[in-house]
Amino acid sequence: MIQKVRGTRDILPPESRLWVEVEAVAQRVFGGFGYEEIRLPLLEPTELFVRSVGEATDIVGKEMYTFADRKGRSLTLRPEGTAGVARAFIENGLAQRPSPLRLSYLGPMFRYEKMQRGRYRQFGQIGIELLGAATPAADAEVMLALHTFLAELGFDDLVIVLNNLGDPEDRPRFIELLLRELEGRREELCADCQRRWDANPLRILDCKVPRCRELVAGTTPVAEVVSEEARRHVDGVEAALRDLGVAVQRAPRLVRGLDYYLRTVFEVVSPELGEDTVICGGGRYDRLISDLGGPQVPGVGFAIGEDRLIEVLPASFRERVLGRRPVVVLPVGEAAATTLAVVRALAVRGIAAHAEVTGRSLKAGLKWAGKLGARVVVIVGGDELAAGAVVVRDLDRGEQQAVPIAEVADVLERTGEA
Ligand code: ATP
Ligand code: MG
Repeated sequence: MIQKVRGTRDILPPESRLWVEVEAVAQRVFGGFGYEEIRLPLLEPTELFVRSVGEATDIVGKEMYTFADRKGRSLTLRPEGTAGVARAFIENGLAQRPSPLRLSYLGPMFRYEKMQRGRYRQFGQIGIELLGAATPAADAEVMLALHTFLAELGFDDLVIVLNNLGDPEDRPRFIELLLRELEGRREELCADCQRRWDANPLRILDCKVPRCRELVAGTTPVAEVVSEEARRHVDGVEAALRDLGVAVQRAPRLVRGLDYYLRTVFEVVSPELGEDTVICGGGRYDRLISDLGGPQVPGVGFAIGEDRLIEVLPASFRERVLGRRPVVVLPVGEAAATTLAVVRALAVRGIAAHAEVTGRSLKAGLKWAGKLGARVVVIVGGDELAAGAVVVRDLDRGEQQAVPIAEVADVLERTGEA
């Protein structure tokens, strides 16, 4: 038997409904904030990620699915979405469009990671990017859209944590201080952090090894070392969110796993999954597009991990989506075509109906409807059909009535949560 690739998942019905519904809410909410979907390739030149995410990050260093195509070009399955958005922005001359540009995306990302709960090699992300605005209001908008989306899903316990990474010019000063403060303890850091020490010291703050965390906890927070301008920016973001009633917490050690972020960085954590399992990460990236050879266009955005989001969905949302019950339409005698006509009449009204097409008897059909959890069975045939009607049987109430075919959808809409 051929098995799926390690770290990939088959998302089966009815679980897949949660994905469809979460994505529909995302399209509605982010669309409501003016974000339109951009659909990008899953395959990009490897160099795109090396130059944007950063050579010394875990993603580029050890997590990418990189291979040579038949002509020997190095390609990579996208590990994240922002780099592709930046590339497309430059390549399509999107700087010519009215600014700012609001884009959303969703789809699979690929990272070669050690598998565990909430960590897969193919995983879904939903993200938005606001390109062309550098004000605190821009960051606040993006985070408000995120907060609104999560609230629409019924979350009320998620926490947005926020930090100020300062500008790239602040970085050397901070790193020098960090390394000075850790100097005597260098040997106690994990092997990865020893390597990060020279290659990308900021990443030490991102290490999940408990001992590294303890050591880092004693160092000066990056937000205390940033320029006055960067400080004012992130304070402005925080104040705007407070005015909007969006609770944010400062997280002085928060850095993200991508090099292009500056000033604002944020994450969403769930009390249920703990602070190591991040649902969403984002931040500001004002140099990314110019670093990739494009115009100087600032940006801010985030990506939600869809797999993790779905794992912690509020029970109310899960129950509403998974609890949906179909209508089953059963033919009796020579009624196959009319059965399909009834299903079509329901389908176009958005009422999910399953036609019996296997040749079951009415009795076997009713049993099948029970297994599907149907709320209503529509029986097509007999004297009723001869009179242009069908029998609509409510399985919960144990009641039935004859309904003219043209009115079945109306009746079902009235009786059900369909
Ligand atoms: P982590 O610290 O958990 O590795 P990250 O910082 O690498 O996350 P980002 O690159 O910011 O993650 O991606 C945004 C979101 O995508 C994460 O918050 C997470 O929810 C999700 N995500 C990242 N990697 C994976 C993965 N391997 N499997 C499932 N979801 C993931
Ligand atoms: Mg990661």
